Amino acid sequence: MKEIQAEILTIGDEILYGQILDTNAQWISAELDLLGVKVVRRTTVGDREADMLYAFQAAEQRADIVIITGGLGPTNDDLTMPMLAAYFQSEIVTNEAVLQHVKDFFEKRGRTFSSLNKKQAEVPANAKILHNELGTAPGTWYEERGKIFISLPGVPHEMKNLMKTEVIPKLSKAYQMPVIYHKLIKTVGIGESTLAEILEEWEAQLPEHIALAYLPSIGHVKLRLTAVGDKRSTLAQDVDQQIKQLLPLAGQFIYGYDATTLEEAVGNLLIEQNKTIAFAESCSGGYIQHKITTIPGSSAFFQGGIVPYHNDLKVNVLGVDEEIISAHGAVSEACVKAMAEKVRTLFKSDIGAASSGIAGPGGGTTDKPVGTVWIAFSDGEQTIAKKLQLTSNRSLNIELTQISVLNLVRKSLKV
Ligand code: ATP
Repeated sequence: MKEIQAEILTIGDEILYGQILDTNAQWISAELDLLGVKVVRRTTVGDREADMLYAFQAAEQRADIVIITGGLGPTNDDLTMPMLAAYFQSEIVTNEAVLQHVKDFFEKRGRTFSSLNKKQAEVPANAKILHNELGTAPGTWYEERGKIFISLPGVPHEMKNLMKTEVIPKLSKAYQMPVIYHKLIKTVGIGESTLAEILEEWEAQLPEHIALAYLPSIGHVKLRLTAVGDKRSTLAQDVDQQIKQLLPLAGQFIYGYDATTLEEAVGNLLIEQNKTIAFAESCSGGYIQHKITTIPGSSAFFQGGIVPYHNDLKVNVLGVDEEIISAHGAVSEACVKAMAEKVRTLFKSDIGAASSGIAGPGGGTTDKPVGTVWIAFSDGEQTIAKKLQLTSNRSLNIELTQISVLNLVRKSLKV
């Protein structure tokens, strides 16, 4: 089956100036991917007709489908329609159905229809109209030289509605598309290159229709398996088969698949094991608890926590022995273990977890430089602590501490 390729061209100076994010291109890419269309390039150009023409022409050379968004308003800086007319050497005509829709649209909202608004109904003569029920700028569809060209409004909700109601159904009819199936495998606690080394042989034996990509982000590496074929259920089986072979190699680092977050994975383990948790967070300042409480239903396993930032609170509220702090300091194995144990008993939870460290940028010493963080897990039977040597960046240290504590809890529950 022939691969159908698309390019997306988004128009607008405000995207190039960095004033808005090009969410249209991202959203359209994801929709086309679901449809089985391969997006091969995305381009943004400003509100200049020559740039638009040049980009449009280049896109036609490479792709079967070209989708352009934006530049459809009635003002002089909206140049998509004149550009398309020039490109297809077609005259501009007033489409009576669009004109009526624009008039009705204004009337319904009690707004005055000006002569400028008439421009919205001016389209290239070779255009098929895609009815924009949510706005006044019509979508247009062109079939020329064996390719499909689609112009959509820039306003995201109008563009999305047109994609759903008009473009996707029409594209599905126009082409026989292969199925593209993705599965994300989420890992934590291992770097990209180490993981790649572990998976070298497994990667080499992947069948031709399954491709692997490494997608690293702070503290995590996602593995994306992409399978291309005719039938979704067969592709899903093929991918699952490969994941089965992956588990003995890297299973200990995998916390979930697709949209699952680390905090959800920890929450699910706690629910499965019918256990509750409480946190004593010093350097992470409550961030772990924030993450946990973003999960709907977290009250089933989250008892609560404390942020004993000042040592007085570690001693007087949490109950850490003052001598531990005077002998070892607050950023120490002994202190963080005591914090995890004390929060567990104070909050009457099955598990206690804790963090204590120097987030920076100040406060480091030769013994304990910025980025030194201790984390701990306690379940009444055992207390485990781990030292992290993180970075000089405060927010990154807080993020990495949060991930490391949740991963410590995850690993301890998995045993
Ligand atoms: P209108 O007819 O309402 O003027 P239009 O089709 O001419 O719409 P633009 O004028 O290019 O579209 O953009 C309208 C608004 O839509 C922008 O101000 C911006 O907020 C949003 N927008 C445009 N393009 C994008 C994009 N690629 N991603 C996200 N938002 C966008």
